[in-house]
Amino acid sequence: LMQLFRPLDLLGMVYRTIRQGLVDMDAMFQLIDTDPEIKDRPGATSLAVSDGTVRFENVVFAYDEDRDILHGLDFEVPADGTLAIVGPSGAGKSTLARLLFRFYDPKAGRILIDGQDIAAVTQESLRGAIGIVPQDSVLFNDTIGYNIGYGREGASPAEIQEAARGAALDEFIAKLPDGYDTQVGERGLKLSGGEKQRVAIARTLLKNPPILILDEATSALDSRTEDEIQATLARISERRTTLIIAHRLSTITHADEIIVLNDGRIAERGNHASLLAQNGLYAEMWKRQAEDRQLEQV
Ligand code: ATP
Repeated sequence: LMQLFRPLDLLGMVYRTIRQGLVDMDAMFQLIDTDPEIKDRPGATSLAVSDGTVRFENVVFAYDEDRDILHGLDFEVPADGTLAIVGPSGAGKSTLARLLFRFYDPKAGRILIDGQDIAAVTQESLRGAIGIVPQDSVLFNDTIGYNIGYGREGASPAEIQEAARGAALDEFIAKLPDGYDTQVGERGLKLSGGEKQRVAIARTLLKNPPILILDEATSALDSRTEDEIQATLARISERRTTLIIAHRLSTITHADEIIVLNDGRIAERGNHASLLAQNGLYAEMWKRQAEDRQLEQV
């Protein structure tokens, strides 16, 4: 009899994972890329988040056995604090986020949330505790209300509206022909990059996770939209442990700690002021981006 139920169980689990876990990660983690081998350990317990401290303990990781991508990373994101990861393309920034979401397991070392090894807890509880605002959100071919409400199953229209307000989307939605019932996505109204990102923010507000991963878009939005989104993100990362994968250094000057990742190693670390004073890689990146910003203003 048990055998009969097992496939149904599995289906239920997959369904729940998709509903609750993958809610915010959509494009960022490109499902097809992920390793289906990750399974809950027998007897895995639920993650119990107390203050939301995230710790990477000498994490070594390789996608392919013979090529290490991360070479022993050690850092902590303090409860409610903000850690920003910067560094050149291919340095391993997104890989870090994928590991925290447990799409892969480290080859060596551990990742802990409030002292619990994330490999030992259920994926459902882990992913329920982490919200992701991806670079490029996927919209479902459905109403804008549905697309926001997807952040939490069973959210009421009032809660959806409140999340939209928090993401500065309510005025935009009020102007749409059918308000919250307006069809969006491929077969409906196409939203701009900034609007899509706001939908992702609203979803995350509904989910209300203690831990947040922000994956900053590489393609710049116009500067007013950018400022508004930055302000919203700053607000939602208050009182949450936040890991920011950043491309523009001007958006992370407030971070408690900034890690400059290069070739899967921590090349420099510190806050904005101390990194500038080190006059190394970070200072160089800052100078280059400051020049770009000036050029933009000409
Ligand atoms: P970017 O700023 O361009 O997004 P990144 O710092 O986020 O770069 P990662 O995406 O973490 O870099 O990639 C780190 C390294 O891992 C790269 O060398 C990349 O080629 C490799 N890599 C990434 N994803 C995979 C994968 N699914 N399989 C094999 N190698 C991968």
